[in-house]
Amino acid sequence: MNARHPTITDIPHYVAGTRFAGTSSRAQDVTNPATGTVTARVALADAADVDAAVAAAQAAFPAWAEVPPLRRARVMFKFLELLNRHKDELARLITAEHGKVFTDAQGEVTRGIEIVEFACGIPQLLKGDYTDQVSTGIDNWTLRQPLGVVAGITPFNFPVMVPMWMFPIAIACGNTFVLKPSPIDPTPSLRIADLLKEAGLPDGVFNVVQGDKVAVDALLEHPDVRAISFVGSTPVAQHLYETGARHGKRVQALGGAKNHMVVMPDADLDQAVDALIGAAFGSAGERCMAISVGVLVGDVADRIMPRLVERTRALKVMDGMNPEAEMGPIVTEAARQRIVGYIEAGLREGAQLLVDGRTFDARRAGPGCEGGFWLGGTLFDHVTPEMSIYREEIFGPVLSCVRVPDFAAALQLVNAHAYGNGTACFTRDGHIAREFARRVRAGMVGINVPIPVPMAWHGFGGWKKSLFGDMHAYGEEGVRFYTAQKSVMQRWPESTPKGAEFVMPTAH
Ligand code: NAD
Repeated sequence: MNARHPTITDIPHYVAGTRFAGTSSRAQDVTNPATGTVTARVALADAADVDAAVAAAQAAFPAWAEVPPLRRARVMFKFLELLNRHKDELARLITAEHGKVFTDAQGEVTRGIEIVEFACGIPQLLKGDYTDQVSTGIDNWTLRQPLGVVAGITPFNFPVMVPMWMFPIAIACGNTFVLKPSPIDPTPSLRIADLLKEAGLPDGVFNVVQGDKVAVDALLEHPDVRAISFVGSTPVAQHLYETGARHGKRVQALGGAKNHMVVMPDADLDQAVDALIGAAFGSAGERCMAISVGVLVGDVADRIMPRLVERTRALKVMDGMNPEAEMGPIVTEAARQRIVGYIEAGLREGAQLLVDGRTFDARRAGPGCEGGFWLGGTLFDHVTPEMSIYREEIFGPVLSCVRVPDFAAALQLVNAHAYGNGTACFTRDGHIAREFARRVRAGMVGINVPIPVPMAWHGFGGWKKSLFGDMHAYGEEGVRFYTAQKSVMQRWPESTPKGAEFVMPTAH
């Protein structure tokens, strides 16, 4: 409980297996975006609090790294069981602080659980290579060893799934972990810590520092942090990548997005309309894989625009705990105002505003929602590439439609954009589908799939300004990111020739 406000909870850090208040006096409100009510105060770490978390992780590392991978996997199996048991509880925590619809939050937890399932296979994933007899009496093998303390810095929009892109694999590989979640929705991180402890994870292997830029900068500069995984907006991703590299760390930094969905005239237009509406407005457009640009080829715009207008107007924008809800509130008032600013910019720049989410009446969202951060779905037509609503990531329920004459123009448009996270093409033409998948400059491609988030064993990552670093999150690249490869060459005295060798060794 908060000393000054008895109805408000204090959200602390989690260090060495226990809740930790820290020494910093800074804190920030946590709000239910559906009602606008402050529900908690989250601590904001200073450098000393970060030091405490890193020290706990550093102390736990030697013993954890020695635990055989099979036993580390058994902790993951137990954690998996607990996650499945507490799935709805975690989803409720997400909806309470993020606002997304409960069923969508359940889906988020499920996609996180899939990474834990992948991490349960760590003995197989860490298996090295072996070559017998690379030269007479000599064998050579490679193995992968954990790095040490690794950190994860995560965004507000997936407070369970994105941390789970990182720590299950990092920990299963034998590292110890410090998570710095978004201060906007910090509670799930503590529940995850509890479940890991209940699963038998030794204290100090998983730690949480709540905080903002101060905590991030302390992690970036900390000499004992060996690697950093970041997911968030592009300017911060770039800062993380550059600063982390300067401090000698491995960094993978996933950034923002502007995902285009191309609709060809031969596509199943019913499916395309469903896909555009779901992918643009699901989670209020606050997904890095949301579709924010519809690229309508040839006569597609004239054929589907009336339906897009109707469907955008009919969106059920409600409190996320209402089972009828299709879209919840915007995460914060500041984010709502930023999105409103983009809608105004779109109008000023000459786009045609067909549905204006600013007119949404909060009373329609449900009882008690008048103080929440509400916005309806917004639809623009005749958007052009020089407009800010096209160039920049809005990260809200705004779908911008661009009209292009043909497939070549559509492909050129997608490829010229600064972001390259996900993209999709809706068509029935196999050749067009193949050309799109091969030629498009983006990291994740959907053919008649609007949000092609790769499965746990495939790895997630964009191109261009959507990813800094060369390794994708999770999948086998995740295992590579969290381990260092070592090559061992061995021979025994019986097969060692006598005398010093002064020439470059070659096979004999
Ligand atoms: P954000 O960049 O504001 O914050 C991300 C993390 O960085 C948070 O933990 C935050 O506390 C911290 N942070 C914020 N500003 C910082 C600064 N100046 N210096 C150091 N740390 C800072 O992002 P957000 O608003 O929480 O999340 C939304 C963004 O994340 C969108 O741009 C979205 O596209 C992106 N995102 C990308 C992916 C992906 O996989 N590429 C996935 C989810 C979200």
